[in-house]
Amino acid sequence: MAKKKWGMIVDIDKCIGCQACVVACQSENNIPINEEGHFNQRRAIQWIRIERYWEGEFPDVKARFLPVFCQQCDDAPCEPVCPVFATYHNSEGLNVQVYNRCIGTRFCANNCPYQARFFNFWEPEWPDSLKNQLNPDVTVRSRGIMEKCTFCVQRIRRSSREAARDGREVEDGDRALSPACVNACPTHALAFGDMADEESAVSVKSKQELRRQAGTRPGGRGYHLLDDLGTHPNVVYLKKVDKTAEEHEVHG
Ligand code: SF4
Repeated sequence: MAKKKWGMIVDIDKCIGCQACVVACQSENNIPINEEGHFNQRRAIQWIRIERYWEGEFPDVKARFLPVFCQQCDDAPCEPVCPVFATYHNSEGLNVQVYNRCIGTRFCANNCPYQARFFNFWEPEWPDSLKNQLNPDVTVRSRGIMEKCTFCVQRIRRSSREAARDGREVEDGDRALSPACVNACPTHALAFGDMADEESAVSVKSKQELRRQAGTRPGGRGYHLLDDLGTHPNVVYLKKVDKTAEEHEVHG
């Protein structure tokens, strides 16, 4: 099997801020349910957050959305600070989290510039009506555990095992392989695949857009979040195409 390097593309131009990805992630990964009391204390309990911000001045103000989750950085600042190696980089480019090693120091969360980690301050509780919907492929974490997006590693594992059993490579764009958020997004703003495969859709697209952005070809939309920090994320964002802003820039 060829060496993998999993990555994602987030097209901001397609994101409508519907949060279907947040709910799909919550459901797939047995993420505890937030309650009104915790919410009012500004406690977020989710692995994807949709950052909302505004551009322009009234009345030409526009809402923008930026889905943020673990960027699976090649040089992840969270990894070297964990005293028990509960978070480390695996051979497929994923920043993984070993729940039963975590001792809850939260050094990793403090060192994550994307604030993409979530700590279980409380013992998770689900209403009886939802207990049967917990995903058996994912551990139910207890209080005191740090957790975060792993690109739905359980789906990657299952698809890879099935492909190995059938003597083939995992297929690019396979829905069973893709994280729950990618499958749930109604506008296809998210795309997942193997960045190490020269011919995969995400690899071709991200290289194209990042190369253009670097100035060799005009018009590219690719960028990394907080690129200056040198974390080398495996998530590529494609910036919003705003015709009216471009016209304003051209015509002063
Ligand atoms: S589901 Fe897609 S469109 Fe909706 S918030 Fe998530 S990324 Fe944006």
